[in-house]
Parts: sequence; C-alpha cells; structure tokens
Amino acid sequence: MKTKPGTGDGLMLPLMEQFLSLQGEGVNTGRAAWFIRLGGCDVGCSFCDVKESWNPDLHPLVPANEIVEAAAESKAGSVVITGGEPLMWNLDHLTSELKSKGIAIFVETSGSEAPSGTFDWICLSPKKGQIINDFWFSAAGELKIIIETESDFVFAENLAKRVNNRCILLLQPEWSVRDKILPLIIRYISKNPDWRLSVQTHKYIKIP
Ligand code: SF4
Repeated sequence: MKTKPGTGDGLMLPLMEQFLSLQGEGVNTGRAAWFIRLGGCDVGCSFCDVKESWNPDLHPLVPANEIVEAAAESKAGSVVITGGEPLMWNLDHLTSELKSKGIAIFVETSGSEAPSGTFDWICLSPKKGQIINDFWFSAAGELKIIIETESDFVFAENLAKRVNNRCILLLQPEWSVRDKILPLIIRYISKNPDWRLSVQTHKYIKIP
C-alpha cells in the first residue's frame, strides 16, 4: 500500500475518472456498474490501455465520501473499483461506506498489493513478472488471464494451481492481437474446459 500524502487512512483517494457503464468483461459482463478508476499503478504491463492512470500525481485527491455519493446517485447498484492498481490505496473507508449504502462492490486487481477493503467480487488479473500477494489467491472469485502469446497459457495454468477451488478461470484475448490469438484461446478452452472465455465486450460495442 502506498502512502501518498493525504491517502494513508483512505479518506482521500486519487480519482482518475468515474462513470456509469456496463461491466464489459469477466463474470459480471453486462451488469450496470458505476466505475471508480483510481490513479496509480507500478505493474507496468506493455498492453495496458490506461497508461495515463499510472502516475497518481496526475489525478486529484478526492474525498472518498464524495466518490460514494456519486456512486449512490448513479443508482447502478454496483461499483467496479479499478485502476490503475486500486489496492495501492487503503480501500477500507471507501468500501465500508459503499456497503453502508447497499452497493455491491466489485474490484479489479493485479494482486500486487496487500489487501484492504471488503468486496463482493474480486477479479484477480495478475501480469507476468509481478509479485502477487497470497491473499488474492484465496479470495478471488475469478482469475482473469490476458492472453497475448501462446506462452501465456503456461502462465495461466501455473496461476490456476494457486487459486481457491471456487475461483472461476477466465482467458481473455489481449485486444490488440485479438484476431490472431482468439482462435488459439477457443481451441485451448475446447480442450481444457475448466477455463472460460472472457472478451472485452465494451470495446466491441464501443462503450467506456
Ligand atoms: S496492472 Fe492494469 S493498470 Fe496496471 S499496468 Fe497492468 S493493465 Fe495497466
């Protein structure tokens, strides 16, 4: 967890953007959600489509209570907390306030940070070469591996051995190579039915 001045207790968080949309990928695809995108990430994936999130200093510190109010006003009933890597920050206050409003909380994390906050659904999406905190393997509802090259299937299988036995296993084509890699993923899942396909539906239907 990082200690950017003013964020230690989670009362202020670096907010990159927040908006109403549908969850585009993973198990909760198609569900309405208020997206809370926090700035800051030091994982550094080459294919990251939100590189502008990486530097937390570029994003204003916003009271977590204001973020909660906006989420409640959206009436989506669910939030997706994403980033960047949202667990760089203490999420205890944000998630307890969201929960007090009866809002379901989904989080997208690479698993690189120690846990904070409480969640109704955890999407664990680690990237090659990063450190993964063991907590996330035991807590994940879904393991979502981005497949960019054939070698990523081995990476996916190695991580699948570490998750809890309720965790849903997902393979998702990296967007820029989707036409090339999707047939390989389909063939792989056909032969390895423990895995399911996830695609970035929001990009196909052009919503944020
Ligand atoms: S972990 Fe997510 S936000 Fe961070 S670099 Fe990778 S894809 Fe981007």
